[in-house]
Amino acid sequence: MEGTRKRLDVPDAVCEIAKRLEDSGYETWAVGGAVRDALLGGYRSDWDLATAARPGTVRKLFRPSYPIGIQFGTVGVRGSDGRVYEVTTFRRDIETDGRHAVVEYAATIEEDLARRDFTVNAVAYHPLHHTFLDPFAGREDLERRVLRCVGEPAQRFAEDYLRVLRGLRFAGRYGLEIEPATWEALTAAMPNLPRLSAERIREEILKLLAAPGASSGLALYRTSGALAVVVPELADLGDGEWEEILYAIDGLPAHRGHLRLVALLAPARSRIEDLMMRLRFSNAEMRDTLELRAALAVPVDVAGDVVGARRWLRDVGPERAHDTLRLHFARARARGAGPTERRDLASRARLVLQVLRRGDPVTVEDLAIDGHDLKALGLQPGPEFRRILERCLEVAIGRPELNQRETLLDYVREELCR
Ligand code: ATP
Ligand code: MG
Repeated sequence: MEGTRKRLDVPDAVCEIAKRLEDSGYETWAVGGAVRDALLGGYRSDWDLATAARPGTVRKLFRPSYPIGIQFGTVGVRGSDGRVYEVTTFRRDIETDGRHAVVEYAATIEEDLARRDFTVNAVAYHPLHHTFLDPFAGREDLERRVLRCVGEPAQRFAEDYLRVLRGLRFAGRYGLEIEPATWEALTAAMPNLPRLSAERIREEILKLLAAPGASSGLALYRTSGALAVVVPELADLGDGEWEEILYAIDGLPAHRGHLRLVALLAPARSRIEDLMMRLRFSNAEMRDTLELRAALAVPVDVAGDVVGARRWLRDVGPERAHDTLRLHFARARARGAGPTERRDLASRARLVLQVLRRGDPVTVEDLAIDGHDLKALGLQPGPEFRRILERCLEVAIGRPELNQRETLLDYVREELCR
């Protein structure tokens, strides 16, 4: 008999979905991250259900329902709370190539739990009977803060090498000690990581960055050798530099994953375009990262100087001001900047933000004139327009009161048309 020591706080909407399935004769369990997180308390993963019902049946029982990953047996079901929950038919691994596991439907929850990666992820909870099914003693590992593979570690990693990176993420996130046999197989698996698709590696890194414990997870990337394989550009940094990156990441909120990505990649000595391209980041992610890194390189030396503050905003772009300042704070802390330096940075940031809020002109779009006005003056459109508007901006940055249509047009006529 499985233990019933603890009752988990399963949302009503999840219990209702489970009840409809069970009432129709299909055994249904809560599984995976939510059970793990509910046992630990203080974390929140989505509630997922595993069921004996096949996807077609699930779709008939719940309307509307969504074929989220229908080829893997996953159907999205909208709960009475308006949220969509994943309901997945019991599965087992049948064939594997290390890039991902090939699965087929299974008859029992026990088989389904056996295909899961780590014991802490292989605990099932019955939301109606409030009983646990925990064949691999995942709860005990959670209590003792141990990360352990389900089954034979080398084999489990060989089935799907992404488990290596997942393991590092979970260990970092929950402060788990990786059990020796699991650690040995995990480090031995490193040469095989390049077999994973770039997309899966990228998604895994983004997941790690967007969760608590990201710096511990990254520290494990380095000690295990994973960093040298998946982001070799960062592996040759010195210990001090690496520590600074980790501290900076800790100083940025987990939900700002893209800022943490900049903190991670900006110190790389090689071209981060190449690295991001290799990991198949989107063009938008790449642009965002490169722009923020360039913005970070503009010194915030604007002490008590509004004109300097406007120039800084022009150079980094007003829409990037908040993010750039956040990164500066995180990096200053990570560098071990003393209270004086930090107070100083804070006062400069206050000035910049004041200028930003006040809406002083800091981009050519803020000017009282535009290209149409220049055309009306009889000027030929072309790259020259940009140069003229930038000169006008320089004037307006120095004295915002001159940012008036007539004043700027006079200036263009007198100074720039000749
Ligand atoms: P998170 O909080 O990151 O969502 P999670 O444990 O819910 O953590 P998911 O990727 O959502 O992780 O997967 C849900 C569950 O599916 C896991 O808890 C695990 O049992 C199983 N699982 C997911 N990916 C794998 C994999 N590559 N190999 C084996 N089992 C896996
Ligand atoms: Mg999950």
